[in-house]
Parts: sequence; C-alpha cells; structure tokens
Amino acid sequence: MEESQTIGMAKRARELASKGIDVINLSFGEPDFPTPVHIREAAKKAIDDGYTFYTPVAGIPELKKAICDKFLRDNGMEFRPENIVVSTGAKQSIANAILCLVNPGDEVVIIGPYWVSYLEIVKLAEGVPVVVSGTIENKYKPLISQVEAAITDKTKVILYSSPSNPTGAVFEKAELEELADVMLRHPRVIAIADEIYEYINFVGRHESLGAIERVKDRVVTVNGLSKGYAMTGWRLGYLAAPKWIADACDKIQGQFTSGTNSITQRAAITALNSDPEPSREMTRRFLKRRDRVLELCKDIPGFRNMVPDGAFYLFPEVSSCFGKTAPDGSIISNATDLCLYLLNQAHVSVVPGEAFGAPQCIRISYAAADDILEKAFERIRLAVEALN
Ligand code: PMP
Repeated sequence: MEESQTIGMAKRARELASKGIDVINLSFGEPDFPTPVHIREAAKKAIDDGYTFYTPVAGIPELKKAICDKFLRDNGMEFRPENIVVSTGAKQSIANAILCLVNPGDEVVIIGPYWVSYLEIVKLAEGVPVVVSGTIENKYKPLISQVEAAITDKTKVILYSSPSNPTGAVFEKAELEELADVMLRHPRVIAIADEIYEYINFVGRHESLGAIERVKDRVVTVNGLSKGYAMTGWRLGYLAAPKWIADACDKIQGQFTSGTNSITQRAAITALNSDPEPSREMTRRFLKRRDRVLELCKDIPGFRNMVPDGAFYLFPEVSSCFGKTAPDGSIISNATDLCLYLLNQAHVSVVPGEAFGAPQCIRISYAAADDILEKAFERIRLAVEALN
C-alpha cells in the first residue's frame, strides 16, 4: 500500500512550517469552518450526562433512527435501523464495505479521477482496481457506456463519489439512471456510492443511485458528518446497505474498532435532526470562494479548469508546465515535481494528480479563508510565471 499522498503532502508542509516558514496548506480536504455551536453543545451535554461507555458496534439506536430519518428527508430512501452501520468516518465505511464484498482477484471498477484511498483499500482487500476516468472535456465524468465496457465476469463492485473528490463533478439523475440500467444487465455487481459531499453541491438537488427503485437492493450508500457539518475531527461516518452487507460490516467493524466515539454519536443525533441551515450557509460560502478562485486561476499561465459543481477543490490540468525549468535549474517533469516546486518555492501545499489517477492535474483545496486564498493563488501565480 501507498501512504495517502494528501496526508503525505500535509506532513511535508508541517515540516516546513515547523522551521518557521509561512506555509499555506491547501492540500487537506476539510472545511475550515468550526462545527456549529448547537452540535458542540450536544457533545458537552453528552459528557455531562455520562455517555462515556462502549456503544453497540453499528451505532446507538437513536442515531440509527436519525440516519434513517435523514435518508428519507434528504434522499427519499427508506431504510430500517438494521440497514445502517455507523463507523469512525466515511473512510471506515468504505473500507468495511470493500473488505466485506471483495475477495482476492475480484475487480472493482473505480470511477476516476478518484479519491486517493479507494485504490489502496481495494488493494488491501486483494481486489483488482479497474479505473475508468473522465477527462476535463467531459467534466471529469466517464460515459456510463465506458463504465459498462470495463465490467467483466470478475467485477464485484462499482465505486464512485458524487460530488467527487478530487474533481467536484456531480452525477445527474439521468447518468445514475443509465448506471442503474448497466447494473440490471450485470446482476452480480454492487455499487458503492460515496455521498460524503452531498451538502456541498452547487447545482441543486443531490441525486442518489440508491433512490432508484430497480437497483436499491444493490447499492451501498456511504455518508458522514465530516464535510457537511464541518466535523472532520469528530470521526463519524455511516453506510446504508442491504441487511446482508450491513451485517457483514457490523461483524468486521466489531473486530477492528467497535462502535465509534460515544460522545460524537450523541452530537450526531443533534446534527442530523436539526435544521441544515448552517450546512447551507457553509455551502453558499464555498460557492463564493469557488467563483473567486476560478477567477484567480485564470491568471496562472497554463492552468485549465473545469467549473466544479460540488465539493471544495479545484482540479486544474497543468500539463503545460511539464518540461519547464525552475529558477534553480531543475526540470518540472510531472505533477509531483510541480507540487514540490510550489511547496518549496511558493510555500503553498497542494496535491499531485497522480494520487487521484490524473497525472496531468493538481488538486487545490479552497476550504480556506478568503484572504489566505488570495495570498496562496498570488504565490502560485508568481511561482508558475517564474518557470521557463
Ligand atoms: N470519501 C471522500 C470522497 C472524501 O473526500 C473523504 C475525506 N477526504 C472521505 C470519504 C472520508 O471522510 P471521513 O472523514 O468521514 O472519513
């Protein structure tokens, strides 16, 4: 397995920062907003009320109910508590599902550019990742016919995120309907839909594959609180799945980590049951920033952007920088070289596209304060202009 490159870049940025260098970190995938106050208050109350004991592995009953209510309210999907497994983050939910479903040699079709951990989790399960990638021309979404062409007798799972990390691409209802038709033609295949960025969607209604009646028994829907409620450090994710998959995830999690943090679970009930206005407000602010950073990016020579419909990343195509020479005489041969150059020269940390299966791109998170973004993009522009 590879180390997570996003975590790797953040680590290198911290090393520079510890030497007193003013590094701007745009490599991490987390909202810079604090968790809303009413959720923090619920956590304090949980401590005072003595919720400090082990919980059931798959989550406390009130939380599972709140998750079922959320699915019905937001996604029109009906689940029972037995379909829900709460975990220590969407990352763990994805790992649970992959470890349960994928046997050695099974193929997993991953829609790319993909989130860093998908590939490594599949490899951990001794599965074979088969990546089908979109390009900037088709808004980083492969055609569903390309996805179907990648399916073989060995395919067990199709895995994707929408809104997507790293590209911000969002699947529309018509595309998901097409994907559902593909699944009908391939009855052995299960889909894992990672919807962790559900609330950070700039184009309107979020669409779920699991809401499509004809495939709903073959979809694992993953979500969590990290992004939509600005709760990355609290560690809470969940999945909804057919009971046989949920049972297997419960079993595997019972051996790995048990139930997630009891205090976080109590806070999550408050988060999910309350008015989502703070999440909406956060999304409005991300949208403003998206528009601003797209403007700033236009001034950076050779950076080509797609307008992302969700999440909080730009994913510019930067291959026109490859082959150029840095002021110190080194050659920028690929996206990793460019990111290291930007870190060392501009003191801005971003992530090379190789990590997401898109070696011609870099990922820039705009989950940072407006003035920091202004400064960061100015520094990137100057550094890129200094390439020859
Ligand atoms: N899926 C995607 C697409 C993500 O970007 C992330 C976080 N970077 C996760 C899952 C994991 O989220 P969590 O913090 O809930 O583990």
